Amino acid sequence: MIEETLPGIYRIEVPLPDNPLQTVNSYLLKGKEKDLLIDTGMNKDECRIVLLSALQDLGANMENIDIFITHLHHDHFGLAITLASNGSIIYLNAPDAIFLGDANVWEKGFMYGKMNGFPEEELQKALEKRDDFLKNIPIEDIKKAIEKCAGDVPLREERFRFLSDEDTLNVGEYSFKCLMTPGHSRGHLCLYETRNKFLFSGDHILEDITPAIFLWPGEKQNPLKDYLNSLDRVFDLEVTTVLPGHRNAFQDYRERISQIKAHHYRRKEEIASLLDIKGKNVYQIASKVSWNIPLPWNQFTPELKWMALAEILAHLKYMEEEGQIKSELQTGNVIHYYL
Ligand SMILES: [Zn+2]
Repeated sequence: MIEETLPGIYRIEVPLPDNPLQTVNSYLLKGKEKDLLIDTGMNKDECRIVLLSALQDLGANMENIDIFITHLHHDHFGLAITLASNGSIIYLNAPDAIFLGDANVWEKGFMYGKMNGFPEEELQKALEKRDDFLKNIPIEDIKKAIEKCAGDVPLREERFRFLSDEDTLNVGEYSFKCLMTPGHSRGHLCLYETRNKFLFSGDHILEDITPAIFLWPGEKQNPLKDYLNSLDRVFDLEVTTVLPGHRNAFQDYRERISQIKAHHYRRKEEIASLLDIKGKNVYQIASKVSWNIPLPWNQFTPELKWMALAEILAHLKYMEEEGQIKSELQTGNVIHYYL
């Protein structure tokens, strides 16, 4: 599906096989000398074939296209390296790249899963899937790019270009300001068109999906706090149209931000209502939360449970830093959260 969402901006719906989100949006922006592609889909044939045929229909050619990545999740970034031509620049953010390049985070997964009450057999299956996920991301290429970046080598000649907050990107008649909006991922970037007031929101703000906020086991961050701050940060922007990473463009921007915030406050209340003075581990809490999935907890796949665990951890971290709850390492090396 191709749609001209705004003049010179084409939304290409890329299928996501075996993924509950079903599709991701890739946007082609027609430029003067070079076009820009925003997000790409996963590194899978099903995505590549659809995207390349859409580009052909639009008279665009990878030889002449740069790629901008909102965040380094595999549904947005997976195909970037495969698609890029020798002349393509890939714009991305450094915090996500550094996280992906940090093998420790992934190696610690097993230990932290167990410490949070994840049954060992399920954990093994969940982490196998995670390894598949990592295979879809060209981590070695990213690591090399980070090394070059850390060595202060001018990135001008490099294939990867790291963008930061307030950087400018011009395409055709459009001029974009980069807005660092950490939360859904560590360095998530939105692109704000300053004259026409529209926003490529990536997965920071979606119309009918609540962006998932994860704390991966062993991480030190408070991603839910970052996320709520990032929502506040963009709330006052004048935005006529939001072009999100999934599903359709939409207009009622501030109302949507308020709804998303309300969801997280409700979830915090729900979690608090599940806790007592005795305490529960994260797996036990996650199994009792009302998920927006039409299956009972015992029919969730292990990888779905792993993601649910990371979402609950993000909320628990936030609540603990606020002083609402406490945690304690108990016998059997399992962390319990209690009021
Ligand atoms: Zn996404």
